[in-house]
Amino acid sequence: MTQTVVLATRNQHKVEELRRILSAVDLDVELVGIDAFPDLPEVAETGSSFAANALLKARDVAQRTSLTAIADDSGLSVDALNGMPGIFSARWAGRHGDDQANLELLLAQMVDVPDGRRSAAFHCAAAVVTAGGDERVVEGVLEGQIIREPRGRNGFGYDPIFTPHGYALTTAELRPEEKDAISHRGQAFRALVPVVAELITDR
Ligand code: IMP
Repeated sequence: MTQTVVLATRNQHKVEELRRILSAVDLDVELVGIDAFPDLPEVAETGSSFAANALLKARDVAQRTSLTAIADDSGLSVDALNGMPGIFSARWAGRHGDDQANLELLLAQMVDVPDGRRSAAFHCAAAVVTAGGDERVVEGVLEGQIIREPRGRNGFGYDPIFTPHGYALTTAELRPEEKDAISHRGQAFRALVPVVAELITDR
């Protein structure tokens, strides 16, 4: 029987990315975005790790909808900044989701950091929680460098200042499907597929 799974995000790009990944495998799942449940309150991201925040969101939505729920949390960890912005990536400059201000603040903080010490990584934790309370978390990491001037118009967030290891281009210069193939979120969502399959089988 087809199972309905809720992706606990209002980001349509993530819903479509996960739908693409799920459609490539033989999984009898109908994926719906949280927009299908307009009355659900926003979950505060009070956890101290990507995994904790992803679990908080998935748990809340699974409990409120009585459906299996998937949530993710992601961000950029910069070694020269002791792993920050990390879980604060979306609101690094103060206002949630101001990508340009976040990127400019990060570049300013890194002005004196030499080329050899500009390593960073995008992280993504993806959590799945069933209505019955079974929980799993998987993670994906994309390692690279912070460059000095933004380049590229694709993607979002810190993409214009991040070059993955082995690439001269930033993730904002890669085509979306090239980024999906290597990205932290692509890795985490692909790792989630067998986990969701295991959890929803025989229910
Ligand atoms: P969230 O997981 O949607 O809460 O995103 C957290 C924040 O991390 C975003 O607002 C971006 O600033 C940053 N981030 C996460 N993934 C990416 C990415 O793939 N590219 C660029 N920035 C990202």
